[in-house]
Amino acid sequence: MTDEETEAELSLVRRRISELEMTKTAGGVGDIDFADLRANAEHLHVGYRRYLEHLQNGGPMMEIGERFAIHLGHELTLIADSSEGSNWATQVEILLRGVACDQILAVFVASDDLIGSDLHAYDSLEPHVGHEVMFVAQLIGGNNHHVGGVDLVCRACEKNSQRPVHLFGSEVGDWFGDLWLKK
Ligand SMILES: [Zn+2]
Ligand SMILES: [Zn+2]
Repeated sequence: MTDEETEAELSLVRRRISELEMTKTAGGVGDIDFADLRANAEHLHVGYRRYLEHLQNGGPMMEIGERFAIHLGHELTLIADSSEGSNWATQVEILLRGVACDQILAVFVASDDLIGSDLHAYDSLEPHVGHEVMFVAQLIGGNNHHVGGVDLVCRACEKNSQRPVHLFGSEVGDWFGDLWLKK
């Protein structure tokens, strides 16, 4: 990674940290509507602060798998958004909306000139638009197991078919477990 990429990531992370500082205290103390959001922001704030330090010490940047792993166990909904792309081609984005962390993440774009992560992603995700989905950890190793990756599963289809419905998986770097996922 270049210095420029690192600088861009550092400023993104700093901005996220200050956003989370606001969210941590959102709403009144007795306002339960904000309780989940605040608790989650508290947790994310700790993670991003550790990540900032890690980057400043020359550690690797988060890739897609680590970015997904942040949302392990969070309630997410798969949504679609379409817009006019270049040459008037319709561009459809498949996004994940996280309620507790108030974030839109993971974009898969399907259009005439496909920009998405892989060709099959759109076809496999599109039938699940509107469904409640969740990231679950792929645990590897024996007693000292660690998170080697994350799988996105469809909770809505799982309820109907009584078995896990896997949508896709991503690898998670070894360094990330110690940094973010430790209690
Ligand atoms: Zn989340
Ligand atoms: Zn589904």
